[in-house]
Amino acid sequence: MTRHFLVTGGAGFIGSHMVRQLVRAGHQVSVLDNLERGNRDAVSMASAGGPGSSTLHVGDLHDRVVLDKVFSQHIDAVIHFAALAYVGESVNNPTKYYRNNVMGTLSLLEAMVDHKVSRMVFSSTCATYGEPETLPITEDTPQHPINAYGQSKLMVEKILADMASPHAFDSIALRYFNAAGCTPDGSLGERHEPETHLLPLILFEALRVKAGGNPDNTSLCVFGDDFATRDGTCVRDYVHVDDLCSAHVCALDHLFENPGLGARRYNLGTNRGDTVLEVIDACRKVTGVDIRYRTDPRRAGDPPELVADASLAMRELGWTPAWPNVIDSIEHAWAWFQANPPSTTP
Ligand code: UDP
Repeated sequence: MTRHFLVTGGAGFIGSHMVRQLVRAGHQVSVLDNLERGNRDAVSMASAGGPGSSTLHVGDLHDRVVLDKVFSQHIDAVIHFAALAYVGESVNNPTKYYRNNVMGTLSLLEAMVDHKVSRMVFSSTCATYGEPETLPITEDTPQHPINAYGQSKLMVEKILADMASPHAFDSIALRYFNAAGCTPDGSLGERHEPETHLLPLILFEALRVKAGGNPDNTSLCVFGDDFATRDGTCVRDYVHVDDLCSAHVCALDHLFENPGLGARRYNLGTNRGDTVLEVIDACRKVTGVDIRYRTDPRRAGDPPELVADASLAMRELGWTPAWPNVIDSIEHAWAWFQANPPSTTP
């Protein structure tokens, strides 16, 4: 069945991969993005080849005029990615995160209620768990965020729960662990400005050395090697971006099949974790490049270990990750970055 979805933040990394999957499944997609961190051409790249279609609306979640224009069309459900998502930035500038991620979402939710759109899949995060006392993390693990980014996402989860009954509002919050990789066919990839994420930064260093740069002058920093983990560096659960998006498709199906569902939440991860040093080593193997690093102090707001128990999403949503090994994400991202090195990306 063909549907019309609103994808907020559809010009961003995960959002554009979502647009691609929906358009490929034949759906009509309206993208709302303020392009502050997204890329206009990511939407056209994501939509190339149809059979569905997309329309980009450049605008902000705070702008009710833009929201009313988008919702003047029939929208079956909203997939809400638009958010600021840098942990370090959120520690240094918390009000920016609460204004954008919480107030922006409130504005979107009010418009949805007014226009009688009552289904949302929301991008939440493992950062809502803070420093969990037990691992792996299940959905029932207590949520005590240690940075404003995680706090802002948890606040929205709570708002969605409160909206379920009075507004008959059905939502699924998907708590992502570390998004990684690119489309396997190389048609879409990751571009952040500035880039702060581990995997791209390792691959940028590999590109630099491959181009003749001196491995000793490395640009790569490992933030802390004194955590209580197996090699002293942080452990993260790296989940392929296309797997994250296929989970959204499962979540949308679940919402349509279960009217009156209320507010649900699921972890999206691979049930395994890699340390920073293990990821660097895997990148050496994939790229064949002698990637070196220097060690810097810990980055504020980084919990030592975040690994998902994602079995609930697999069981209840019928989600099966196609690329559960970080090597797959690295191979796909390496192909993308070789074809689209950072200095030439728009
Ligand atoms: N990290 C690092 N060097 C970098 C970027 C990240 O050591 O240049 C570490 C970071 O401290 C964290 C892990 O890599 O432990 C993943 O960080 P990233 O920013 O990719 O994702 P996050 O876990 O913050 O969402």
